[in-house]
Amino acid sequence: MPEGPEIRRAADTLVNAIEGDTLTNVWFAFPALKPYEHQLVGQKIDEIETRGKALLTHFSNGLSMYSHNQLYGVWKVVKSGERPETKRELRVALESRKQGILLYSASDIEVAPRDVILQHPFLQRIGPDVLNPSLTWQSVRERLLSKGFRQRQLGGMLLDQAFLAGLGNYLRAEILWDAMLLPSHKPSGLTEDALTALAKSLLAIPRLSYHTRGEANPAHHHGALFRFHVFAKEGQPCERCGTEIVKCALSSRPFFYCPGCQR
Ligand SMILES: [Zn+2]
Repeated sequence: MPEGPEIRRAADTLVNAIEGDTLTNVWFAFPALKPYEHQLVGQKIDEIETRGKALLTHFSNGLSMYSHNQLYGVWKVVKSGERPETKRELRVALESRKQGILLYSASDIEVAPRDVILQHPFLQRIGPDVLNPSLTWQSVRERLLSKGFRQRQLGGMLLDQAFLAGLGNYLRAEILWDAMLLPSHKPSGLTEDALTALAKSLLAIPRLSYHTRGEANPAHHHGALFRFHVFAKEGQPCERCGTEIVKCALSSRPFFYCPGCQR
C-alpha cells in the first residue's frame, strides 16, 4: 500500500512527463466525462496535486480532474499514441505531441471546475496533507490538541487519513520512534515538549522520505537520508539505545518499536 511520499513521487513522474505541454488528445472512458474531451484539448496541465491517495489534475482552463486509484488504479507514462500491452482497462488518456499519461482501472474519476472539485466529499473527509509545504508543525500541534483528536490513541490515529493525509504504516512506526513515544499515548496526556516533538516528527519524517528515500548517493543531499530505524527491524538493536526492536500488531497492522527508548 503506497504512502504519501510514494504517491507524491508517482505524481512527480506524471508532472515531468506532461506539465506545461499543450494537450493534443484527451480521452475519457466514462460517457459522463466525454463532453470534457474537447474542452481540454488545447489546454495544459498546470499542476498535479496530491491529497492523501487522491490526485487532483488542474488544467489551464480552470477545470480539474479528481481521481482516486483505490486498490487497482495505475498511471502509466507513454510516448504519445502508445498503448501498452495490458489487461487493465484504460480510463483516461491525456496526451501532448510528445508524451502521454494514461490512467488504468480507476473507477473514481470526476471532472469539474476547480472549486467544485475541491469540495469533493473525499477531500472534505481527509486532514491536511503532510507533504503540503504550507503545513507547519505549529498547526499540526494544534490539530493534535483539537477536539476530535486529543483523546485518541496515537497508534490508530496516525493511520486515520482524517487526522493527517499521507501517513501509512511504515511512517507511523518511524514517526513514533523519532518522537520517542509509545503508540498508546493520547495527545491530551503528552507534555508540552513531547507534543512539539511529535508535531515536528509528523512532518519531518514523511518529508525526508519523499525527498531522499531510495537515494543511493548521499552527496546529492545535505543532512540525513531517509531509512528505516524500526520498521521491519524486529530483533535488531535500536541504534539509539541498543534495546531489541519489537514487532506487534496495532490497529490490525504490523507495528515496530523500541521498548527501551520509546516511552
Ligand atoms: Zn531505543
